[in-house]
Amino acid sequence: MPRVTDDLFASVASPVQGCLQKMAADLPSRQDDRVVYHLRAGDHRIPLNERIGSPMRLAWSGAIACSHCGRATKKSFAQGYCYPCFKRLAQCDTCIMKPETCHYHQGTCRDPEWGEKHCFQPHIVYLANSSGLKVGITRKTQMPTRWLDQGAIQALPILEVNTRQQSGFVEMLFKEQVADRTNWRAMLKGEVKPLDLCAERDRLFNLLADGLGQLRDVHGADAIRTLDETPLDFHYPVATFPSKVTSHNFDKQPLIEGTLQGVKGQYLIFDSGVINLRKFTGYEIAVE
Ligand SMILES: [Zn+2]
Repeated sequence: MPRVTDDLFASVASPVQGCLQKMAADLPSRQDDRVVYHLRAGDHRIPLNERIGSPMRLAWSGAIACSHCGRATKKSFAQGYCYPCFKRLAQCDTCIMKPETCHYHQGTCRDPEWGEKHCFQPHIVYLANSSGLKVGITRKTQMPTRWLDQGAIQALPILEVNTRQQSGFVEMLFKEQVADRTNWRAMLKGEVKPLDLCAERDRLFNLLADGLGQLRDVHGADAIRTLDETPLDFHYPVATFPSKVTSHNFDKQPLIEGTLQGVKGQYLIFDSGVINLRKFTGYEIAVE
């Protein structure tokens, strides 16, 4: 339903152009679990919550700029990089997706300084509910962003470890019992039922007690620390969830328009279909 603020905003908003970055997803305060989104294109930050219910149009110019070096690239690799950066940067190495394969100790880290700053830092193993129960890992400083990017409606940090690789070992263990992926279609349909994450945590700790004991034997008794946290809830600005999920893709269709019905995870939900904006990082678009 249109509100007064939508009209006000439309009158001051002119089309903006720039290269897409991941949307900013924030919680206004620790007490407020309503997610606030900004679309980021170049230096522009476009508030999205107040545009829900209004028409919106995104037009891709055909240009893509590498989100690391800024050079033009015909194709985007690993969500926003040119091919040379994709092959060279530590953050594009396969060990980022599979932390248990960290090869720093073999002296082959693509950028040891980057690795020390990002991987040799406390990491959290968490349970989240994005399209059902999942396990995941994140750098401590990335909470709650990580969960909001996944469209999780609940999250609970369960363990803290010293390095990214250790978090990978723990995640591997949990993957014997729990998914580590989000079914994005289910997440976007909004039919996800709340879970008792504390009960799930206790159940998994029981099931995996032997495996966790073995990891502590290898990495030191204090390396894998049990957390006693309270589950967090998140509410996304979605007026209408799609009953059938069809996705837009700038590569196939450079102009995307429709009434914005909501934002969840890194997806915009239009009446005409959904788009994962993160997938198009670096794409130069005009927004109006
Ligand atoms: Zn580059």
